[in-house]
Amino acid sequence: MRGRTQEGRADREETLEAGHKAKYANIIVDISHEKVDRTFQYKMKEEMRDTLREGDLVRIPFGRGNKTVTGYVVELTDRAEFDESRMKEIEAVVPDAVSIESRWIRIAAMLRRNYGSTMIAAMKTVLPVKSAVSPVQKRMLYLQVKEDVALALCRQCEEKHQAAKARLLREMLSMPGNALPYSLVTGKLHVSAATLQGLAKKEIIRIETESTYRNPLSFTETKLAAKQLNENQRRIFDAFVKDYERGERKKYLLYGVTGSGKTEVYMEMIAHVLAQGKEAIVLIPEIALTYQTLKRFYERFGDIVSVMNSRLSKGERFDQMERARKGEVRIMIGPRSALFTPFQNLGIIIVDEEHESSYKSDAMPKYHARNVAEWIAKDTNSPLVLGSATPSLESFYEAQQGTVHLFRLTTRYRESRLPDVEIVDLRKELKEGNRSIFSRSLAEKLGDRLLRGEQSMLFLNRRGYAGFISCRSCGYVVKCPHCDVSLTDHRDGRLLCHYCGYETVSVTLCPQCGSKYITGFRAGTQQIEELLHKQFPTARVLRMDADTTRRKGDYDKILSDFADEQADILVGTQMIVKGHDFPKVTLVGILAADLSLSANDYRAAERTFQLLTQAAGRAGRSDLPGEVVIQTYQPEHYAIRYAAEQDYEGFYREEIAYRRLAGYPPAAHLLAVLFQSKKEEEAAALAGEAAEEIKSQA
Ligand code: ADP
Ligand code: ZN
Ligand code: ZN
Repeated sequence: MRGRTQEGRADREETLEAGHKAKYANIIVDISHEKVDRTFQYKMKEEMRDTLREGDLVRIPFGRGNKTVTGYVVELTDRAEFDESRMKEIEAVVPDAVSIESRWIRIAAMLRRNYGSTMIAAMKTVLPVKSAVSPVQKRMLYLQVKEDVALALCRQCEEKHQAAKARLLREMLSMPGNALPYSLVTGKLHVSAATLQGLAKKEIIRIETESTYRNPLSFTETKLAAKQLNENQRRIFDAFVKDYERGERKKYLLYGVTGSGKTEVYMEMIAHVLAQGKEAIVLIPEIALTYQTLKRFYERFGDIVSVMNSRLSKGERFDQMERARKGEVRIMIGPRSALFTPFQNLGIIIVDEEHESSYKSDAMPKYHARNVAEWIAKDTNSPLVLGSATPSLESFYEAQQGTVHLFRLTTRYRESRLPDVEIVDLRKELKEGNRSIFSRSLAEKLGDRLLRGEQSMLFLNRRGYAGFISCRSCGYVVKCPHCDVSLTDHRDGRLLCHYCGYETVSVTLCPQCGSKYITGFRAGTQQIEELLHKQFPTARVLRMDADTTRRKGDYDKILSDFADEQADILVGTQMIVKGHDFPKVTLVGILAADLSLSANDYRAAERTFQLLTQAAGRAGRSDLPGEVVIQTYQPEHYAIRYAAEQDYEGFYREEIAYRRLAGYPPAAHLLAVLFQSKKEEEAAALAGEAAEEIKSQA
């Protein structure tokens, strides 16, 4: 059965001694504006003093006009902050609102302090479902007479040619518990409502209405036995268990190439923590949260697994939170918002693909889920496990500093070979007369694959692409002289630095080699698709980008069509880098590896390295050997060289040296402050003042 919203209350801390009832409530109003970003004190009506709890949503008169607004009670107190006679009174508790438990109020306060949002915005973040959604009503039919009686009745009905009744009874007798869903009976079994009413009246069957939870997972698979860990995996798991038994709740980084068996290790760790009566949160970036991933967890753990993501309905989300609160769900899988699952006994948090930029929220508060996971882990005394094939510089840096415990899984679980990687210098292609998007080598290899009936993937790296200017003859990229990030091309012919505001006029000749081929990069996935049709008329091509994945289900459809070998070539943006394994893919072409290198972001090299490594990892995942062609204007760039060698640690060493030199994170802290005004001069003046102030403090 299903619980209601107020369940969690009994476990909440009481801030006042028993028997002593607070008279006042400090409230955060539901208006996200810095002017009201503080608590307001209200009186409680006498009858409210027994029941009102911290975290409840209430209606209050607010402001000079006493307009009714809602707000969350964050503190109950006996200390009046001002004269009681002037104090307004709480009107009522909002029915069906979800209350915020006190530990989440603490986390919200940290969000506000660290990421500079209002308290109400922070509170809404930790409460992904704000109001109760009515339960789903399901009607069930139960047999009311003994089985032998029912069987005799059934025979009678058959003799009397009462086929519908006979069908129903036979079906009920065959079911465990002799129960059937009403809708199935009136639908598939074609038994009329009148017939059912008649049977119910004679007390042969009973019709009952039940509330059930919505369940977004509909797997029918039975549980599979756990896999036996190999030696490397076992070593890691044993070390984890040893820490755990000693009461040490550490932060770990599990660094292991894709396919090295990280997920199996997570599952063992989870099983261990579950056995102590605790619960688990598994964060997975939205784009990697596939049917396959969920199925794997479901096969191992069964019904206690659930999922949270933006594709669920409000009712589904509410019910998953309720199931978690009641302990029916004990493993919650999802992107950022799964962090805020109201488990009563959280025991471990896993952050898979911890380097993913989607863990950073782009709405206020702009929190990073990896950091918030750490606070929640500390708050609940849980270990935190970060995992990645290409760890973020931040996490690997911490591992080097010793604040994160590093585990390595260096080989793929199945001993499949790493692909052969060729780097093609696009400047040379142009010099030798090839102005196509495809280098000669890539075109030849594509042709080979078509002849052999194998599949290829073409990846257009457009991440962070923001209209920068580069030279197709020498690879020169126009960058900010102060910040070393690429300048953004504005339509009005200006080039702008998004870090420091440096501005210059656009160029027509390359400052380095004098070539006139200096422009923004304009090719998109659609042009590439057209070009493929021209150059390889027989090839079947699928395209995956923002345009072809607008509707729900598009993304999965393209991937499954490609997996079913309904196409020879899949063209796409970074979306194709993640997701399924395609055993028939033996060629991966990376069309413009440097596009993301020139993003106007200090993480450009890191993002490029991650993307190229992942894209290259797509080739040759089974017995067929894989090849990768990386096309670039900057073949000498370390991000490209190390990605070609799949050498993360080599990349890390060069990149961290660069960050130290340039004063970028994780070697230093960086805070971006945005000044907005209708008048440019005002924003500029204020920004200038703030800069002076900050400099004087440093
Ligand atoms: P990762 O999470 O690092 O990408 P996975 O855990 O998905 O790696 O493992 C890759 C493949 O190897 C999966 O198909 C997985 O089932 C298999 N695998 C991993 N570890 C084992 C093991 N100990 N025994 C059997 N199969 C394993
Ligand atoms: Zn040039
Ligand atoms: Zn700059």
